[in-house]
Amino acid sequence: MKQIQKLQTASNSPPPYNGGITIKSPQELEAMRRAGAIVAETIATLEEAVHPGITTSQLDQIAYRVIRERGGQPTFKGYRGFPASICASVNEEIVHGIPSDRILNEGDLIKVDVGATIDGFIGDSAVTVGVGKISKEAQKLIDVTRQCLEEGIKAAVDGARTGDIGAAVEEYATARDFSVVREYVGHGVGRFLHEDPQVPNYGPAGRGAQLRQGMALAIEPMVNVGGWETKLLDDHWTVVTADGSLSAHFEHTIAITDGEAEVLTRI
Ligand code: MG
Ligand code: MG
Repeated sequence: MKQIQKLQTASNSPPPYNGGITIKSPQELEAMRRAGAIVAETIATLEEAVHPGITTSQLDQIAYRVIRERGGQPTFKGYRGFPASICASVNEEIVHGIPSDRILNEGDLIKVDVGATIDGFIGDSAVTVGVGKISKEAQKLIDVTRQCLEEGIKAAVDGARTGDIGAAVEEYATARDFSVVREYVGHGVGRFLHEDPQVPNYGPAGRGAQLRQGMALAIEPMVNVGGWETKLLDDHWTVVTADGSLSAHFEHTIAITDGEAEVLTRI
């Protein structure tokens, strides 16, 4: 979900987002840590729950329960009309899959993307999980995409630019013969799910918005076994690889500090 416009549902909704990069105060970062902790716990619970035979809507119900028990709100539910608490995308589906009665089978790759809001601030994180025993290629894709995220986080330091993050991600993936999705990108995050700046998963280095202490970003590499091109399904949400190849996605919400980035959605 990269669009910035949002659906105002809750009565205590913040004022509309008018664009621009926001710098979070120490108190705001505290709220983002709380949101991030809820997201991290939800993702850990989902990782445990994935097994052959479970449906993606059962995963959605689990996520809803964990987020609510911890006092959070599922950020995605109602966002531009999205019907569920998580995005659940299987195999060639890259992002934004809608939870359904689809049963996960041995060998599938499931991507779960979770957002939680507490005290007006949002955490956003995603993981890819293998269902039972998966192919060697699928495991390599998971390992490379997870490391792409780590490379992106390492590049996210005060004074660097968004292009440095993208270049680090792209270089790691393409050196291993995978491609990075170009049509969907990471983003600033805070009171709103999608704030400026955009954080592409490709370079060039040295371009794009400059990173400063107090900025919070969702870095989210989407990596494909085949080409980088995508297609939108008729449900107007689910994004798939154009060539039907496998895709993986990892995401963390991070804060720029005076040293290495603080990962807000890691337990
Ligand atoms: Mg996300
Ligand atoms: Mg995101």
